[in-house]
Amino acid sequence: MGRDRGLKCRQCRREGEKLFLKGDRCYTPKCSIEKEAKPPGDQPKRWRSRKTPYVVRLREKQKLRRIYGIRERQFKNYVLLAKTGKEAARDALPSILERRLDSVIYRSGFAASRTQARQLISHGHFEINGRRVDIPSYLVNEGDVISVKESRLSWVKEIAAENKGRTFPNWLEKDDEALKIQVIGRPSPEDVDYTINYDQIIEFYSR
Ligand code: SF4
Repeated sequence: MGRDRGLKCRQCRREGEKLFLKGDRCYTPKCSIEKEAKPPGDQPKRWRSRKTPYVVRLREKQKLRRIYGIRERQFKNYVLLAKTGKEAARDALPSILERRLDSVIYRSGFAASRTQARQLISHGHFEINGRRVDIPSYLVNEGDVISVKESRLSWVKEIAAENKGRTFPNWLEKDDEALKIQVIGRPSPEDVDYTINYDQIIEFYSR
């Protein structure tokens, strides 16, 4: 399955809750969930009634995958990676997802949404330790310094000003003037503000 390119709001309605996929619009009354929370399609009642353990796990997995905008194959690889470490897989998985470069750029307010963060990164607007990185899935490590390409500084500064109110994670340090982010630690499950049952997701891939 490829990346979900369908209407973002449709994905939220499918999961029955706000996944914050569209940036500013998600915080306004224009949000589709605020207006109409019913799932998409012709048979929403039938879909809602099918709550087998498998469906519950599947929906939890899809919700998380959609929040981060990740393809199925890559998401599965993240789960496998989470299972290989010393940390419990349920704690390692959110930490891996938060360390993705597109997530760091979004969390820092340098992009309105993860989708925009991916676009900016793919267009080569960011550097890590002075070297251009155009891979949104790049996993940042402690000590990395993320900066904005000089020619794009004023543009990203405007975006950052619009997202000033966003909660900034404490495992990162930000210089608002120079638009630099330093990775000073590792994200913990407490740094992730989504209500996700990670056990269900790990369970889904243990079948
Ligand atoms: Fe989801 Fe609402 Fe944002 Fe649309 S506007 S992506 S429904 S949170």
